[in-house]
Amino acid sequence: MSPVRLRVAPSPTGDPHVGTAYVSLFDLAFVRQQGGQFVLRVEDTDRARFREDSEQQIYDTLHWLGLDWDEGPDKGGPFAPYRQSERLDTYRPAVEKLLADGRAYHCWCTTDRLAEMRTAQQKAKQPTGYDRLCYGKTREQRAELPGFSETPVVRMLIPDDAPLVFDDLIRGETHAPRPDDQVILKADGFPTYHLAVVVDDHLMDITHVVRGEEWISSTPKHILLYEWLGWERPAFAHMPLLRNVDKSKISKRKNPAARLTWFIEEGYLPEALRNFLALMGYSMPDGGEVFTFDEMAAGFDWSRVNAVGPVFDLDKLGWLNGHYIREMPVAELAERVVAYMGVTGDKAELVRRATPLVQERMAVLREAREMLEFLVTDAFAVEPAAGEKFLGVEQRPTLQAARDAIDGADEWSAAAIEAALRHALVDELGLKPKHAFGPVRVAVTGRTVSPPLFESIELLGKTTTLARLDQALSG
Ligand code: GLU
Repeated sequence: MSPVRLRVAPSPTGDPHVGTAYVSLFDLAFVRQQGGQFVLRVEDTDRARFREDSEQQIYDTLHWLGLDWDEGPDKGGPFAPYRQSERLDTYRPAVEKLLADGRAYHCWCTTDRLAEMRTAQQKAKQPTGYDRLCYGKTREQRAELPGFSETPVVRMLIPDDAPLVFDDLIRGETHAPRPDDQVILKADGFPTYHLAVVVDDHLMDITHVVRGEEWISSTPKHILLYEWLGWERPAFAHMPLLRNVDKSKISKRKNPAARLTWFIEEGYLPEALRNFLALMGYSMPDGGEVFTFDEMAAGFDWSRVNAVGPVFDLDKLGWLNGHYIREMPVAELAERVVAYMGVTGDKAELVRRATPLVQERMAVLREAREMLEFLVTDAFAVEPAAGEKFLGVEQRPTLQAARDAIDGADEWSAAAIEAALRHALVDELGLKPKHAFGPVRVAVTGRTVSPPLFESIELLGKTTTLARLDQALSG
């Protein structure tokens, strides 16, 4: 048997969608298990929605997730080019053949006419679909009728007996509605997705087409094209749609987590996100929820994918991410935090030393940044709400006593700083620890939530600590 070849085929229409990573993960699990190739193909035929920077973002986010491809526009490969806009000549012979064989026809209807037709059909409570006004007509014949456009499109002539049932690797026997006479070549000379996907999957020797559930209704058209062009069709696997907790479809408009870059910005770990995406429909034989990509790939089986819309629960992802963070060797976590914060040199060193203080206190790297920023920032500022609550005139005596205690600590260590502060604030001033240390924490770290206070002060150093207390006292 020839090796399996799978592809992910994102459209560069904006910030990459989480679905691209989701499909890639399952593609790759199968490819790694079977020994085959994973192809990245850029489907950029929709020129109206094309976005220049999107392709690079697709590369960056998939790389970040560790979902690497064997062939693609950036890598090349035996079936290059892998960008559909560079393959326009490839689609023309297929269109010519379909036209010559009477499987497709030109349509000159203007968009206005199509819109009117649709409205009329809806009013009459008829099924909507192209009424074949252009079918069987020459250009001249059609030009005499209203709603004529100079530049035609090409449509498929869907037969009455079009096959509407197909076998899906995840869903088994799958039924789809009868398609409309689908446009396959647009007036701008670009193929539509439906033609391009079939031609490319065939020419690129794709053996398994894995894509979102929303394409089930298109599959009969694709099956017809394979038949008409005399090509063997690949296997199909339609992944379940990811849903919000309220069961609605995840969209970039409604949920930031639909954008892959969001996970990077928030500081999720790629291995945790991979694990989470795998849990969206996949179950391990032992029912375990924490597993690596390699473990998933080793026993991968399409029949273990559940087709019922998995819920994209960010609380669960947060839990999983926190779990990975806590399980990680602290030195490795420190490097992740350093990279996430983008610090170098002495600042990076400080962050490394501070990481053990926050490992147990965060679910995402963003929280580490928020907690450690005070150590490395050149623009220290107290959060206004925290300042208002903890740095008022009535806290001045506490802050002054803290300043003197820290200044006179026996040595510069967390233990000595703690002893000095406790003595001055709790023993001498008679404050409860909460009231004693809250103002000091806010003055020194700028926030009410920070790593452990005495260690934080030790790391920050005496000069800066005293300067911040002075700043609070003079505020
Ligand atoms: N370009 C399509 C998309 O963005 C690909 C669908 C497929 O994988 O066939 O969803």
